[in-house]
Amino acid sequence: MSAPSLGHGARLTIDLGAIVANWRRLGAEAPGTPCAAVLKADAYGCGLAAVAPALWRAGCRIIFVAHLAEGEAARAVLPEATVYVLNGLPPGAAPAFVRRNLRPVLGSLAEIEEWAALSQGLLPAALHVDTGMNRLGLSVPEALALVRDPRLKAAGIDLVMSHLVSAERPDEAINLRQIAEFADVRAAFPGIPASLANSSGIFLGEAAHHDLLRPGYALFGGNPRPGKPNPMRPVVRLEAEIVQLRDVEAGAGAGYNARWIAPGPRRLATLSVGYADGYPRSASGRGRALVGGVSCPILGLISMDLIILDVTEAPAARRGAPAVLIGDALDVDTVGQAAGTIGYEILTGLGSRYVRNYVE
Ligand SMILES: *Cc1c(COP(=O)(O)O)cnc(C)c1O
Repeated sequence: MSAPSLGHGARLTIDLGAIVANWRRLGAEAPGTPCAAVLKADAYGCGLAAVAPALWRAGCRIIFVAHLAEGEAARAVLPEATVYVLNGLPPGAAPAFVRRNLRPVLGSLAEIEEWAALSQGLLPAALHVDTGMNRLGLSVPEALALVRDPRLKAAGIDLVMSHLVSAERPDEAINLRQIAEFADVRAAFPGIPASLANSSGIFLGEAAHHDLLRPGYALFGGNPRPGKPNPMRPVVRLEAEIVQLRDVEAGAGAGYNARWIAPGPRRLATLSVGYADGYPRSASGRGRALVGGVSCPILGLISMDLIILDVTEAPAARRGAPAVLIGDALDVDTVGQAAGTIGYEILTGLGSRYVRNYVE
């Protein structure tokens, strides 16, 4: 058998067909409402240059990124898409937006004025209204006061949007408050499309849907409804090779600072993946990997380039055999939990050291 990772230690397989299926699945929650794709942070670590064209071929016409540079990267692979840049307009950046036909999501009066001065109403932009996050956007009163302001008209607003604080917790009262406030905002901007729902927001029902869905995480297999069965198809699979096996006796330590001590005879496998690859060190002693389908605990501290597994119960463990770190029973949400974080951070931390394998 040839080495699965071609000398890179670990292999990341990204299922573009699953991303497209997830995009369609999310769109089906709101029939008739267009579904955009949020592809910030290099498409949640999955690779914008591969992911964006796959979604475009499936019919996705609107994407969101966080930064101007990400917008430029998106434009390079999607000459015709509508591209919004969520983090707004940095001072002096307006000409660069115009050059690449990118649309800033304007979040303050200063940004609106700067964009309006250049665009004179001819170049579109989105308006971000803050309904509770206190992070980006005009406050609701500021936005309502601006409705008849000529500066707003000159800014060419073609989308009004807001962002949900706790969409993945459907019982939180703030969801209904934000949905109601955003409905007021939308009513104040008649004729301008409105967008509120991220991945989890799509599952809050029709009142959150408006004119454009804005999912990110769920496209990449993350569960938009934590605690309930995940309706999304898995996208990311991370496998690392076993480089060595050893049998240890009771009392043997594993890894730096011997943070794990063998309670009895054990068989250990060393994997060629570590925190420098983006597998979080905070999963030390808590994460797991699958060897021949058997769930094996990660032992001791995760090293920069290596992880030690207890494969005593895994007969498939051999030199060169793959261990699955993300995939099958170990979905991104589970791995995030083991690392004391969220699946979003696992995805966006996926390193550039892996050999990447895109499948349709
Ligand atoms: C990241 C982001 C999204 C996508 O959120 P997910 O939870 O990943 O679906 C949507 N809107 C805004 C403003 C965002 O910053």
